[in-house]
Amino acid sequence: MKYQMDHVVFDEFGLVSVHCIACNHMIRKRVEAPSKRDPSKMVYAMMTLSNYRELERELSDGSKMYPMFCVECFNEPIDDEKTMGIIKRGWSKEMRHAGRPEETIKRTEKEKESLRIVKGGK
Ligand SMILES: [Zn+2]
Repeated sequence: MKYQMDHVVFDEFGLVSVHCIACNHMIRKRVEAPSKRDPSKMVYAMMTLSNYRELERELSDGSKMYPMFCVECFNEPIDDEKTMGIIKRGWSKEMRHAGRPEETIKRTEKEKESLRIVKGGK
């Protein structure tokens, strides 16, 4: 089943992995890497895997977003409506992870409810 799973995974330290919006294959993952400021220290960084692709989409409020897919799904027709749904779920998940009050999350969800993709292409 495509367009069913959340595309972002968080834990107590932040973003763990990013997955293809359509098929849920992993496309970015958190790794430990030496700090650029102090190479003796390890920090978390996001690693982009070779199957990572992104599209540009224009939204009904004039803003742009860059939904992420694996290379296989990128080469197939994209379901913009379902993509928008997954992205909205991701925003809510991110707000919850950031500890936003449930009231704020609900209000934001309502504000963004009618937001949709108006322009696409590859
Ligand atoms: Zn995919």
